[in-house]
Amino acid sequence: MKNRPYRIHKKHQPHKKVNDESIEETLKKLQKPGPKGSDYRERSLKIHGLICAKCGREFEEKTRHLLTVHHKDGNHLNNPPDGSNWENLCVYCHDDEHARDLLGKYLSEGKE
Ligand SMILES: [Zn+2]
Ligand SMILES: [Zn+2]
Repeated sequence: MKNRPYRIHKKHQPHKKVNDESIEETLKKLQKPGPKGSDYRERSLKIHGLICAKCGREFEEKTRHLLTVHHKDGNHLNNPPDGSNWENLCVYCHDDEHARDLLGKYLSEGKE
């Protein structure tokens, strides 16, 4: 009599969990600020122009230091390359926008 080869039933493998690693890496990238943290400022000025989004005041190269970048969602680490989280605000409007925040801290960090 022939011995039938014993067939092992392949156990059904449960689906692998979503790769936690890639999520972590994505988060790391999101939280990584620019080289000096002020990199987004230049980009935002380029994208949105030297104009205050609130009062419409225009600025020139000479006065551009009066224009600051505001993060719409309040998260300074959220800097999408398309500028969708940025708003250029003059220091006065920015001050207004952050009346309850520690604007001084933000400004001293954003300026170099
Ligand atoms: Zn303004
Ligand atoms: Zn702001």
